[in-house]
Amino acid sequence: MKQLWAPWRMSYIDEGAKESGCIFCNKAKQTDLREALVVAQTPHSMVMLNKYPYNNGHLLLAPKRHEKDLPSLPVEEYVDLNEALRRSVDILRKIFNPGGINLGMNLGHCAGAGVEDHLHWHVVPRWEGDTNFMPVVAETKVMPQHLLDSYDRLKPYFEYLSP
Ligand SMILES: [Zn+2]
Repeated sequence: MKQLWAPWRMSYIDEGAKESGCIFCNKAKQTDLREALVVAQTPHSMVMLNKYPYNNGHLLLAPKRHEKDLPSLPVEEYVDLNEALRRSVDILRKIFNPGGINLGMNLGHCAGAGVEDHLHWHVVPRWEGDTNFMPVVAETKVMPQHLLDSYDRLKPYFEYLSP
């Protein structure tokens, strides 16, 4: 069994891939937010649960615009994304009370990006010892109810982020 020491580098659990087109751009177009696991849409960004989570409450935050280059992100969109990041940390702490949280962004394939062409943050709540007992398979097996439960718990807290 693979030990997961750096969740933000686990590209193969990242976004599952296999979907045609950009998964983030696809999500932005989906009308059923719950099905898309999108908990918030800010003016320039979206916050969603990772479909293939490393841990409970594993979020992905992406700009709405298809952009792969961080420095090319206009300041307004960058600030919007990072404000969503800051709030996400706050919300995850309130709801899941994790021992810690990993924030990670993979730029480029060799850095572990599963989706290279669309910037995104990984926000991963961590608990003492979770690397030892939280194999990806176990986590994906408890989907999808598990994910929807998390979604329903998180959604009201993210309400004020969405215009
Ligand atoms: Zn995209």
